[in-house]
This record gives sequence, C-alpha cells and structure tokens, in this order.
Amino acid sequence: MTGKTHLIGGLTAGIAVQYFTGHYTQDLLFLASCTAGSLLPDICHGGSKIGRKLPIISHLIRFLFGHRTVTHSLLFMVILGAILSSTPVPASITAGIIIGMASHLLLDAATARGIALLWPLTLKIRLPIYTHTGGVIEHVVMALMIVATGYIGYQMYIF
Ligand SMILES: [Zn+2]
Repeated sequence: MTGKTHLIGGLTAGIAVQYFTGHYTQDLLFLASCTAGSLLPDICHGGSKIGRKLPIISHLIRFLFGHRTVTHSLLFMVILGAILSSTPVPASITAGIIIGMASHLLLDAATARGIALLWPLTLKIRLPIYTHTGGVIEHVVMALMIVATGYIGYQMYIF
C-alpha cells in the first residue's frame, strides 16, 4: 500500500479505537501517534515517506533484513512496545504507535506480496482478499477509510 493509504489507515484505526473502546478519547496526540506508527514499518523501504526522512537507518535495515521482513513482524511490534513502555513515553503515544503499526501490517497483508508477519520465519502472510499497491481497489479502500474516519470524527469531535 502507498504511504497515503497507510496514513489514512492509521488515522482510521485510531479514531475507531477511540470511538468503539472509549480509550484515549479527545486525545489528538494519540491520533498523531497512530498516523506516525502507520508509516513506521516502511522504514525498511528507502523510497517510503519515513525512509526518505531517515535514509541511513532505512538503508541499514534494508541491508540487514530486506524489505517487509523484521519491521512488518509481530516480533518488531512487541519489542518496540516493550521498549516504549519502559520509558517515560506516555501510554497513549505507545498505544497509538502500536495501533498505527498494526493497521499498516493489516493493509500490507492485503497486498499480493503479503508480509513476513512471523519473521524470522520467512513464511509470507497474505489475506484471502488482496490487491496490488496503487491499484483501483487500494483507492476504493482509501476512500472508504476516509468516509469512515469523517463519519466517526464528526460524531466524536464536532457533534
Ligand atoms: Zn509496508
């Protein structure tokens, strides 16, 4: 999926968590963390939004592990969550980053290439329904997420 789709996906996941769980409501820092977390896994890709911002780290990760491996795994989410939880970083930021990352993995699992969710196992995980990055279906999914985010956001923040 493209960076824009991941950004929208992170925002949609975050606002859905606020709406359906009642946690971190009215917390814009939580939503910002969700969108940041939604971009983080693609740090292994030098052409991604975050890869262009942090080229040295991006190239190092890609050189050591390859694309869509460690940063697209459950192991990476667990380790990052444990590290963030052991620091003074507020819980809402940690939760937002992890939720954003989870949204990224879900969206990438809906692409033809799938993801190495169980890395270091090389098994690729792909949803039964999938599409190609940048295709028409991705744009439809993005539009649906924008509508859902707008609808829930209107109810939570404006109504
Ligand atoms: Zn990705």
